[in-house]
Amino acid sequence: MKAAVYRAPGQVALGEWPMPAIGAGELLLKVRGCGLCGSDVVKIRSGRVAPPAVFGHEVVGDVVAVGGDAGGFAVGDRLVVAHHVPCFACHYCRRGSPSMCRSFKTVNLDPGGFAEYLRVPAPNVRHAAFKVPKTLSDEAASFTEPLACCLRAVKRAGVLGGDVAWVIGLGSVGCLFVQLLHRAGARVLGSDPLAARVALGQKFGAEAFQTLEALGERARELTDGRGVDLVLVTAGGASVLRPAASLVRDGGTIHCFAGGEGEELPLSLDALYHRELTLTATYSSSPAELAEAFELLARGRVQVDGLITHRLPLSRLAEGVALTVEREAVKVFVTGDPR
Ligand SMILES: [Zn+2]
Ligand SMILES: [Zn+2]
Repeated sequence: MKAAVYRAPGQVALGEWPMPAIGAGELLLKVRGCGLCGSDVVKIRSGRVAPPAVFGHEVVGDVVAVGGDAGGFAVGDRLVVAHHVPCFACHYCRRGSPSMCRSFKTVNLDPGGFAEYLRVPAPNVRHAAFKVPKTLSDEAASFTEPLACCLRAVKRAGVLGGDVAWVIGLGSVGCLFVQLLHRAGARVLGSDPLAARVALGQKFGAEAFQTLEALGERARELTDGRGVDLVLVTAGGASVLRPAASLVRDGGTIHCFAGGEGEELPLSLDALYHRELTLTATYSSSPAELAEAFELLARGRVQVDGLITHRLPLSRLAEGVALTVEREAVKVFVTGDPR
């Protein structure tokens, strides 16, 4: 079969990949499409994963083969599937860290969503596969996994009704956060250096600003000079942590949803302590949030229209990566069609 194969750091191109064979409790999907995630872009560019490999984990596809009893799914079902499933039983799982579970990342789609077909392993069939209703498009359904990660972040960040939150970065993830924070009862400010993304953030309901000065002024006005209760960092790396710390209120929280450039936190231990700041982070999601995210999308409670700006076939994945890096594309959707 055809797949967009990662061959070396920065190199991904259409090639041949062995057709996966399914076993008991597994499914074979013919991929309809797959969202390009920032983490795929990092994997393709950084050389962190040994080549050859096929990425893509925001997948929608049609069931074309079923291995025995596979969770009631049947040939012809249109599914959205996610890649990692925890064991539910280990020390990490029992303490609310399912994405740190040692088996979480060993469970994976085979080979990945940037291929014509993929095998859905049994744990994913049971815990990370959802039948997409007719009313939900492939593109909207593909947001299940990224939205689940955002849901988990909002829970971990401890948002309270009446909070003023600041979302840094108004790409697709930032716009999902704007909506989830509203649902949690927060007033949402957003910032992005790109004017088009400021407009996008506004469309999804944020009071959005292109400069930190303008945002800071509005934040102080809204909070009697205290600063925002929560900063959600979706982009910018360590460079945004200093402005985040200067605009978060005493006792507030900075939540890191993305890694990025910079090894050190530009934050003094003294400020962290005397200002009683909380620094939290979220990596990935769990089956509970996947189910919750799927419901929100299926019921139209979270909107994703306008977030996918580019649709490309498998053969043009490299172009999608470049468009994402240049911040030309908000979100790229790669269709299963190789041409
Ligand atoms: Zn992702
Ligand atoms: Zn576990």
